[in-house]
Parts: sequence; C-alpha cells; structure tokens
Amino acid sequence: MQLIEHVAEMTALARSWRSQGLTVGVVPTMGCLHDGHLSLMRLARERCDRVVVTLFVNPLQFGPNEDFAAYPRQQRLDCQLAEEQGADVVFAPDSRELYPEGFQTTVKAGELAKGLCGASRPGHFDGVVTVVTKLLLLTCADVAVFGEKDFQQLTVIRHLVADLHLPVEIVGAPIVREPDGLAMSSRNKYLQGEMRQEALCLYRAITEARRLALATPPPAAADILEVVRQIVAERGGALDYAVIVDERNLREVPAVDGHSRLILAARIGGVVRLIDNARLLPDHA
Ligand code: AMP
Repeated sequence: MQLIEHVAEMTALARSWRSQGLTVGVVPTMGCLHDGHLSLMRLARERCDRVVVTLFVNPLQFGPNEDFAAYPRQQRLDCQLAEEQGADVVFAPDSRELYPEGFQTTVKAGELAKGLCGASRPGHFDGVVTVVTKLLLLTCADVAVFGEKDFQQLTVIRHLVADLHLPVEIVGAPIVREPDGLAMSSRNKYLQGEMRQEALCLYRAITEARRLALATPPPAAADILEVVRQIVAERGGALDYAVIVDERNLREVPAVDGHSRLILAARIGGVVRLIDNARLLPDHA
C-alpha cells in the first residue's frame, strides 16, 4: 500500500488507473479509523479494482469554536488499518495541498444542509461538499462510500453528485455500533469516565422510538419525539435536536411510515457532541 501526500501524485496515479480501465473506489475520512470506517473500505474493496482511503481533517467544515485542533490524529496506525482492509492508497494531504494560497472557489450545499446539523454548524456542509468534490475529482472516483452514521451528510452528498453531474456512484453503508449500541465515532475518544455511559442515551432513545413505532397504529411522530427527549434528558444528555424525517428528503413528518428515520444529536457531559439515527420501522414496513 502506498501513502500519498501530494495532489499531483494522487492525480497521476488515478489517471493511470483510469487509462488501464481499472475502477476506483474512494472512502473519504478524517482519520482516527475505527470499525465503522473499515466496513466502508470493505464495501469499496468488493466493488472496485483500486481503493483509495483519504485521511484529511478538513478545516473548511469546522466552525471557529469547534474541535479542529483537538481532533484526534493517528496517521501511522490509520495506514496500517487501511492496508489490512486491502486499500491500495492512503491519500493524506495537508491543508496547503488542498487549499493552497489563493484558493477561493467553493461548492455551496443547498436546502438539505440548512436544518439538523446544518442549523447548529453553519457552513459545515459547504465545507464538506467542497472537500468531497475535490477528493472525488482528483482520485477519478467511480464509487465513493459514505456511512449512514452521518445521514444528513450522505443525503447532501447524493444531491451534490446529482446536481453537479459528478460521474460517481455513492454507496451508503450501515452504522457500525459498539456491542452496547453506541455508534462508533472518532469523537468517542473524548468520552471520559461517566460520559461513556451517558453517551448511550442516543441509542436508548432510538431503541425505544423503534419499539413505540411498531404499535398499530404507531403513535404520532410528536409523541415518539417526546419520549426521545425524556430518555436523553434522564440519562444526562443535552439534546441538540431530535426529528423524525422522511429519509428521502429529510423533511419532518407527522406520522411514521417505512421511510421514517429518527435523527438526533446530543451533547454528552456538556461538551462532546454525538449524532445518531435509525430507520424506525423494519425494511418491509
Ligand atoms: P469521519 O472520519 O467521521 O468523517 O467519517 C468518515 C466516514 O465514515 C463517513 O462517511 C462516516 O459516515 C463514516 N462513519 C463514521 N462512523 C461510522 C460508523 N459508526 N458506521 C459506519 N460508518 C461510519
């Protein structure tokens, strides 16, 4: 496996693959890899001749008071993990490579980026779609794999690719969880002492919401959300938002059906912001 740090080298290799008729699968990450990231790599590996894992903590998608500087970084271990999953390349540019002096052109996300995480993180999704566009183009990606863990991000990226006619297939991957249900996240590293237990409030709320949704007829979305709020509060989380949306357009819905997804974000211990989501009814509903 090759570690590449320069855009010119990555582009040259990607073009040579393309000229040989090889397909390229890309897994964009911010590093500090865990099993969730590794599951994305395996999907890319199954689908494509070559797999590129990108490691880049993108300054454009962090707000001024967010954790850009503190975000955990472990490039050497990440390279090892990516290699074990069969990645051909880890592309780990620094900020000056992707945003050299004079950089001034960005991509702007639309309506889908305004609510949910976009409301509490202004500009976040513009940063995401800008870097994702660059990474997909410079790696000549045929396929790119993203996790459902960041469900709004996945939806925004699907729109990006459709709106800009980027010739890339976007594959969504299921959320990988710890044995007790906590969704894996690089930010789980911030959870100290009791916060690890408190962090389970998100999954507990999801589990209860899914149980309630199975009733015939299911309760109104507002009633399910009331229970979600109670569970998060009782277990020590500070809810940022909890919504039940149609997963095809992220619009809030009054009643639950087979396309309904609960999406929530909460601060644990007042500081660590975690997100989670799940479809409320089983697939066949
Ligand atoms: P990040 O490094 O947090 O930017 O995440 C990189 C990619 O991994 C994104 O597409 C995430 O949605 C995905 N991802 C993060 N955590 C998980 C998880 N627990 N299960 C599945 N995918 C995940």
